[in-house]
Amino acid sequence: TAPVPPACSGATWKQWDQRRRAGPGLQPVFLSCTKCLLKTHKPPLRMGSAGPSNRLRRQRHGVPLRSLSPRGQLDMEGALTARDRVGIQDFVLLDETTEAAFISNLKKRFSKDLIYTYIGTLLVSVNPYKEVDIYNKKQMDTYMGINFFELPPHIYALADNAYHMMLTEFNNHFILISGESGAGKTEASKKILQYYAVSCPSTNLLNTVRDKMLMSNPVLEAFGNAKTLKNDNSSRFGKYMDIQFNSQGDAVGGHILNYLLEKSRVVHQNHGERNFHIFYQLVEGGTDDLLRQLGLERNCQHYSYLTQGECATVPSINDKNDWKSVKNALQTIDFDETITKHLFGIVASVLHLGNVQFDIDNTGHALLDKNTELRWVSDLLGVDAQTLEEALIFRKIEARKDQVLSPFTVDHAIYARDALAKAIYGQTFTWLVNRINDSMENKDSTQMTVIGLLDIYGFEVFYVNSKRFWWEPVQFFNNKIICDLVEEKHRGIIPLLDEECLRPGDATDLTFLERLEEKMGNHPHFVTHKLADKLTRKTLERGDFRLLHYAGEVTYCVVGFLDKNNDLLYRNIKDLMCQSKNIIVRECFSTMDTENKKRPETVATQFKSSLLRLTEMLMAKEAWYIRCLKSNESKTPGQFDEALIRHQVKYLGLMEHLRVRRAGFAYRRKYEDFLKRYKPLCPATWPHWRGMPADGVEILAQHLGYLPDEYKMGRTKIFIRHPRTLYATEDAFEK
Ligand code: ATP
Ligand code: MG
Repeated sequence: TAPVPPACSGATWKQWDQRRRAGPGLQPVFLSCTKCLLKTHKPPLRMGSAGPSNRLRRQRHGVPLRSLSPRGQLDMEGALTARDRVGIQDFVLLDETTEAAFISNLKKRFSKDLIYTYIGTLLVSVNPYKEVDIYNKKQMDTYMGINFFELPPHIYALADNAYHMMLTEFNNHFILISGESGAGKTEASKKILQYYAVSCPSTNLLNTVRDKMLMSNPVLEAFGNAKTLKNDNSSRFGKYMDIQFNSQGDAVGGHILNYLLEKSRVVHQNHGERNFHIFYQLVEGGTDDLLRQLGLERNCQHYSYLTQGECATVPSINDKNDWKSVKNALQTIDFDETITKHLFGIVASVLHLGNVQFDIDNTGHALLDKNTELRWVSDLLGVDAQTLEEALIFRKIEARKDQVLSPFTVDHAIYARDALAKAIYGQTFTWLVNRINDSMENKDSTQMTVIGLLDIYGFEVFYVNSKRFWWEPVQFFNNKIICDLVEEKHRGIIPLLDEECLRPGDATDLTFLERLEEKMGNHPHFVTHKLADKLTRKTLERGDFRLLHYAGEVTYCVVGFLDKNNDLLYRNIKDLMCQSKNIIVRECFSTMDTENKKRPETVATQFKSSLLRLTEMLMAKEAWYIRCLKSNESKTPGQFDEALIRHQVKYLGLMEHLRVRRAGFAYRRKYEDFLKRYKPLCPATWPHWRGMPADGVEILAQHLGYLPDEYKMGRTKIFIRHPRTLYATEDAFEK
């Protein structure tokens, strides 16, 4: 018989939980209660008892049960005694909240290879640029099922706490990882994924899913990462990955959303930078046979798209080995031989396309250079060579029922060639992400919760939580002024750019700049050559505009803005690709065609709406934050560049964050969630609370004996000053 919830049976929560675990039907269900004759009870399976408890998790993994320190004490005492040796492990406990004290603490810890420090539940990580021995199974076991603050700060602690919270409250979470290029965001997200892969319960079936999730990384990195001046493995796309868990806490699937791949890198790289890794991996690592089939030479110098940066080989990168990993990974994520062949065919076709050169005929128009052969491009893309040639040097214009071929100049032809290369690569990347999702996504979304990992340039919505209580005022930078400058309707940079792109006739990058100058001439955060004072003018070119961002000044050059925003691909090229015999190309371009039947959205608008969707999605989840800091610019192991760190501490808003945390209230929880979890502890709120969640929480807090100073009621959340209070509540709950 189905176990009865304790409100009716009189059993303790622990007994109830044990009974539930012992039973075969572990899914949360509505149960009929025979004793109290209430028709249905929703047993608290989703609160505190869904999924294995921390203790059980440790047992399952054969990890010894630790005798835990009195909750919430070790952090303070441990930190105080060890303070001089290793610094403070939570900035909240720092004596002074000055920037100097903050940085000195980071430095002290960094010198001892302690790269993690908390600000409350936020994790600050400093890139050590060397292997630190803290990412092994033993460490994973140590952190499994442990409350925050009981052990030294670690990314595993954050991962584990998010996981435990998700299970106990049956809600969705996300971990936002931010920081500048090379700060360690991608490494952090990989560590978290590995942690879940190792520490969640496993079966053969689940192992397959898990391998797929792990293996999606090398594939997407090969196609979406590149060597830049800042980072030898820089992610050139934004990535959001949901790890899906069932109610038992098993990782049962994953889903990836990708954001704006830097397609321009396919055709152009700055000096000292490379194209996407996959090109070099294929040329260096592909077998002789494969290269022959693809018409490639084993020499990166042969390809114009690979030589602009003049750094095809990089000491820290082994393309040959990486090629092997990518091949293995592709197998794991179910790529069969045919599809793999088509995928590499596309990569090779882009390299061949880059070598297509044009000449000028005697009428001033473009023709194919006599040394250029289109054979390989057309073979690999599975399109007719003649039609391809035509599409590269003529534009098809439809005038009423007639079609007129308008010849290109050489510049136009180069533009068309590069646009094709970018489109093929960009579409293939999206296709790849979709394909990986097909292979690892769990479509059964009932009874599932997720932890999302966001590896993207950071942003955070900070709002004042002031309705019910008067707070200690905390200064923070209001970024709205910059956001408006960029995106405000009819006057912001993006809307003006879109307008200029749509304006028929003589719109150019410079007319766009003039529009900007006209609209925001006296804006304090915007300056151009024309608007600048004498001194600043010297640092700006005519085509530049400069924005004074929160993180610092950035100068933009308008050249190419309109083209990039339009992302134009000529109609006849698109049509041709829709007929491709390469199944991936055909699929990509046919989808693109259907999506773009209306006027295609500009790139900036696409990006903006995808970020808006992302923000909406994140708002519905509980947030965890990791702020990654770059220790030095030269990637030197163990070097701590104070000035560089100070700059990042500033623009990541860490001091502001610390002040918020220092005002107390390290724990915050939405009223609904708090009530859902703890309402059984108070007769007035159990089994149902029909009033406003905030009022229920207030009653609950008073019933639990919280002193007025220990908690504050915010607009949507209860804030608890010290973790100890919450731990005591947890104890009462478990008893
Ligand atoms: P981008 O925005 O350019 O993608 P990123 O923040 O994702 O940068 P990563 O690629 O994660 O940066 O890290 C850059 C390099 O720093 C890594 O390749 C690695 O060499 C080193 N690194 C980062 N985190 C760690 C770590 N925890 N331990 C050791 N080395 C690290
Ligand atoms: Mg990265």
